[in-house]
Amino acid sequence: MPRIRQQNVLAAQWTPNGDWLGAPDLTVPDNQIYACNVFSPAVQRQRLPKDVVRRLQHTLERGEALDTSTADAVALAMKEWALEKGATHYTHWFQPLTGMTAEKHDSFYGPTGEGTALAEFSGKELIQGEPDASSFPTGGIRATFEARGYTAWDPTSPAFILENPNGALLCIPTAFASWTGEALDHKIPLLRSMDAMSKSAIRALRLFGNHIAQRVFTTVGPEQEYFLIDEQYYFERPDLITTGRTLFGAKPPRGHELDDHYFGSMPDRILAYMLDTERELAKLGVPVKTRHNEVAPNQFELAPVFENSNVGSDHQQLTMQIIQNVARRYGLVCLLHEKPFAGVNGSGKHNNWSMGTDGGENLLEPGDTPHENLQFLFFCAAVLQAVNRHQGLLRASIASPGQDHRLGANEAPPAIISISLGANLEKVFGAIERGEAGESTPESFLGLGTPVLPPLPLHGGDRNRTSPFAFTGNKFEFRALGSSMSLSLPNTVLNTIVAQAVDELAQELEGQLQDGKDLEAALRPILQRSYASNKRIVFGGDNYSEEWNTEAEQRGLLNLRATPDALPYLVTEETLKVFGDYGVLSERELDSRYEVFLEQYVTKLNIESETAASIARTMLLPAATRHLAMLRASGVAGLISETEGLIAECVQAIHGLESVNRGENQTYEDLLSHARYMYDQVVPAMDTVRVAADKLEKVVADDLWPLPKYAEILFIK
Ligand code: ADP
Ligand code: MG
Repeated sequence: MPRIRQQNVLAAQWTPNGDWLGAPDLTVPDNQIYACNVFSPAVQRQRLPKDVVRRLQHTLERGEALDTSTADAVALAMKEWALEKGATHYTHWFQPLTGMTAEKHDSFYGPTGEGTALAEFSGKELIQGEPDASSFPTGGIRATFEARGYTAWDPTSPAFILENPNGALLCIPTAFASWTGEALDHKIPLLRSMDAMSKSAIRALRLFGNHIAQRVFTTVGPEQEYFLIDEQYYFERPDLITTGRTLFGAKPPRGHELDDHYFGSMPDRILAYMLDTERELAKLGVPVKTRHNEVAPNQFELAPVFENSNVGSDHQQLTMQIIQNVARRYGLVCLLHEKPFAGVNGSGKHNNWSMGTDGGENLLEPGDTPHENLQFLFFCAAVLQAVNRHQGLLRASIASPGQDHRLGANEAPPAIISISLGANLEKVFGAIERGEAGESTPESFLGLGTPVLPPLPLHGGDRNRTSPFAFTGNKFEFRALGSSMSLSLPNTVLNTIVAQAVDELAQELEGQLQDGKDLEAALRPILQRSYASNKRIVFGGDNYSEEWNTEAEQRGLLNLRATPDALPYLVTEETLKVFGDYGVLSERELDSRYEVFLEQYVTKLNIESETAASIARTMLLPAATRHLAMLRASGVAGLISETEGLIAECVQAIHGLESVNRGENQTYEDLLSHARYMYDQVVPAMDTVRVAADKLEKVVADDLWPLPKYAEILFIK
């Protein structure tokens, strides 16, 4: 067993007088904390004239445009509120294609010329900002001579205040566009896709006799997984610092085989961290609801109550920021990478998705008798149709180098997109396909064998935990997102493709209804046809099994293992058409995303491979040769030759990696072929070095090995 390098683990938790180092600010009482730093509808009602509130509400609820006088009134109230909260600066907070958030701070105060400063902030400044946008990725949309980019206030996502011990900052969620109005960010297409979805769904709802709903919102509830490790180990691992994951590390003697971590009780330091995190998120109006340990050691999960896709996505970005920031107060580092530790379960993000009306009706709520719930069956069939047709696009929307370690590797979920409906719904749709009326399994009860425990309602089917896209009660759960990803793109895709399918089914239905049929008679054959032609996407079995790979291939489903396989689906004819038809992304906007994502893929892998080569050569090989010198000095013949052999293997692997890193004589036709080169040549060369180095880790004297080992990193809480 390696020794445990644990100098500051305990020190980090407590100050000398016994306080938590990261003691949260408990001055605001719990019942006043929720959304206390949000310019929420409640605050708006308090501070704005009634007619302004009404106009603002129309924008929020119906997607109507906002006029300048309203903006001026809002800016004034927002400024006063922020100044009272101690804010000195404001920023247009936006989401460029890096997948992270960006901010440029402006002071509220401008000099008056008389030696004083006045707080200024008008509707103009609220509505529009102009950051120097030249260094954000645009995939060629903006020529370098025209570096102009605009940020535009998104009144549908509330402004909030980020606190810092030394001040506070008003953050205004904004969209980011080029001067020609093309989207340079993840928010604009998401908002456009929500509009598209709403239009289609309203059209369909009218056919089902709903004449009240004015808008349908897509909703999202993300379950975020992450690792916490002791800060000290983080700083001793250049790979974690530069790439977010460990590029080396032999499998520890103990993994999650004992299954003792999942849902286990939480160590004090971790719980303290979580309570603090949740308090910070609550202040920002992020409705965090659940927390638990995850499968891998030191892995955790947090999930909020669902919100509309736009606000939910903004909140998710904030959540990733806050869980990382607060960790540092506890001497911890929060890792969001999809695969920080090889051989240990990675991290994802389950994207629970549904559609709901402005009246609060969830369109994916099956009720007790789904087989009779025509409206539910209609929307459910639309999702099947959309996902089946656009599998490749959905897969592309979640592609990244981190994801390549999960999807299509030996881990959940698989790279094949399929839908699990659950036994009950599968039966219902099966009956529809056969032209039968069908029935739903009535709810029954599960006795627990003792009268003191209440009988539990028995669900129609067990949950399929291996499915990448599962119906879970009253929503679909897209489970293949990566833990570090923005929610925006996958939800933009989902909203858009479902909008298309809803429209197509609605059009068919309108046709049938015009012939004078009643709703049920009109709809049944449509559902029958749609299910029959899309049911290949439905799979309720074990998604991790070998057989599924074979069967999926027979069904003609896509199996896009790696990022370079998936990204081209961003620019296929079919993708261009659906995004174009619904005004969500133009061809240029899609091309630019395709370029940016390929570029990011190449760049990230390049950083990894250079880091791997450098660590192997300058940290690991020297440790091994020192070890060899020690063996030679003590003359243990068997060990000397063994170590020499392992060192030779490592040296050869390093040379191989350095050579592919240089990529001499390589010419790339385009970015895609460069990405392919990274995947086909560079990644395997990195793996070879790793295999050799991990063998050395197991033989070199522990006190000589320069990197903290998995056993240390993963089991210190
Ligand atoms: P599980 O781990 O069983 O999947 P969790 O309770 O951890 O369930 O997470 C469920 C998530 O689904 C929560 O974030 C919840 O808010 C979200 N959710 C519930 N209903 C909806 C809905 N209608 N639309 C979107 N998300 C939803
Ligand atoms: Mg889940």
